[in-house]
Amino acid sequence: MRFFVGSDFEDSLRKTAFFILQIPLDENTRRKNLEKILVTSALTYANGPLHIGHVAGSYLNADIFVRYNKLLGNDIIYIGGTDDYGTPISIKAEEEGVKPRVIAERYNKRMKKDLDGLNIQLDNFSGTSRPRHIKVSQDFFTNLLEAGYVNKKTLNQFYDEKHKRFLADRYIEGICPHCKSEGARGDQCDKCGKLIDAMSLIEPRSKISGEKPIIKETTHWYINLPKFEKQLREWLATKKYWKDNVLNFIMSWLNEGLIERAITRDLNWGIPIPLENTKGKVLYVWFDAPIGYISSTMEWAEKKGQPDLWKKYWLDPETKLIHFLGKDNIPFHTIIWPAVLSKQKEPFILPYDVPANEFLNLEGQKMSTSRNWTVWVEDYLKYFDGELLRYVLAANAPETKDSDFTWKDFQNKINNDLNNVLGNLANRTFIFIKKYLNGKVNKTENIDKLFAENLFSSGLNNNTPFYFDNLEDISDIINGIDESYKKYKVRRAVQLILLLTRIGNRYFDIEKPWVTIKKNRSEANETLFFCSELLRRISILFTPIMPEAMKKLRKMMNLADDFEWDDIKKVPESFKIGEVSPLFKKIEDAEIEKQLELLKEGSEIL
Ligand SMILES: [Zn+2]
Repeated sequence: MRFFVGSDFEDSLRKTAFFILQIPLDENTRRKNLEKILVTSALTYANGPLHIGHVAGSYLNADIFVRYNKLLGNDIIYIGGTDDYGTPISIKAEEEGVKPRVIAERYNKRMKKDLDGLNIQLDNFSGTSRPRHIKVSQDFFTNLLEAGYVNKKTLNQFYDEKHKRFLADRYIEGICPHCKSEGARGDQCDKCGKLIDAMSLIEPRSKISGEKPIIKETTHWYINLPKFEKQLREWLATKKYWKDNVLNFIMSWLNEGLIERAITRDLNWGIPIPLENTKGKVLYVWFDAPIGYISSTMEWAEKKGQPDLWKKYWLDPETKLIHFLGKDNIPFHTIIWPAVLSKQKEPFILPYDVPANEFLNLEGQKMSTSRNWTVWVEDYLKYFDGELLRYVLAANAPETKDSDFTWKDFQNKINNDLNNVLGNLANRTFIFIKKYLNGKVNKTENIDKLFAENLFSSGLNNNTPFYFDNLEDISDIINGIDESYKKYKVRRAVQLILLLTRIGNRYFDIEKPWVTIKKNRSEANETLFFCSELLRRISILFTPIMPEAMKKLRKMMNLADDFEWDDIKKVPESFKIGEVSPLFKKIEDAEIEKQLELLKEGSEIL
């Protein structure tokens, strides 16, 4: 039975694409095209463990990108750590009556464990309270000062008379002067994402005493951002390829006009500024945090026994520096950070791309750690496999707008996409091969042709969503997945992989191997070889998102663990199916109800 119609196979465009795909990549050519990439995830405040907002915002997308690039053979390292300073940590320490360092070290360890549980593999996970970071940050401050970009100013600040303390950043709260929402803090409004000059807060209150603060004079050091404006605009003009949401955010910031911003604070937890007679003055956490990417890379190099190795990335203009972060971090990474980097003694590279994500909501509401409205990774891992969360957060990534995590959707995605579609394709294919074909299928001559066949003339497009109309054949879909990973469009990669699995199931249904096996064994072999080859390609394409599940899939097919992206095109001579077990299992209603109950009760993790 033939249902593929080859009539439009002469279509010249498609033919060209087909032949390009068949040209084996010369090993040397590939080597020459290798890229050097340095990936970072925004440093996370060490005042609590990891929750799904962190994962969706800046960790999972980075890990997927890194895994994809490793498969391509690129020279890529993935750097991160905890942000140990800042008022969230000292406030937490005061609540518990311990030193801030205790809090920072505790949550640094727990976050690392959470990341491991989700198979998010950073090359180094450091913390900004480590001695190396302190030294590097102080040098950065000094260099910027000596280059003439820092001004000392006397100004008025809120002061808590009862506790004899200046109220920096989160020690003060009030109503946002921009969007008028309550609970805005002295540094930033969570609601509208805007940075706030604490003095402009409406109805300010001290977070320590709850009282209305007085105003008192103090001295601080300011980065002269207006002096950078021309340079920044010129540099940003070369970044047309950045995500729209990022560019829009930056432009609205620039167009409001750059102002001088304080890079020091009156606090007792932070990096002391390296000047005489400045007791009680520390670097503003947002000044030193991104420097943590550098000090963490230095730590990595030292651990490798090659202390200068960090320079190979940070000081080479060929390196692509890519910062993964949530949208609240955009201004710091695209305005202040490149300004600071550009005035150092050593020629540091500037960010190549800043693929910021929007926010992830939970059950239709904004996530909030203070209201305990989130899903903590530690809690999640008590009940489910980390791999499943990777899938659901990738399928639902807040790439261009906020997205919502709901437990019901979690269940649907696992049960439908993974279990019923991908799991089913693997299961029915392997079981059939074992039962009727002695566990082995052999390569058929027309396999390449089947992959390049027009989906629209084949009947395979019947359940293809309309937005994939421009994809003519399976090779097109595979190229689309490749392109999606390159452009951080993980959601699209997921949709296209699902499309492949649906095509596989549909092909199986149309070809009816359970009928053909009785009359024509080679026709059944052809059907099952096609399905197996499709699964083999999926096992590579899906690895950046679900590395462990794909390992399991490959094991059932007796495929090697060490493979690279280009292996997608290398069709094996045969498949021998090993032991078969279900790839995924269904999640029951009761399991989801339990999670909804736990959410309502509130986690006791904090
Ligand atoms: Zn606001």
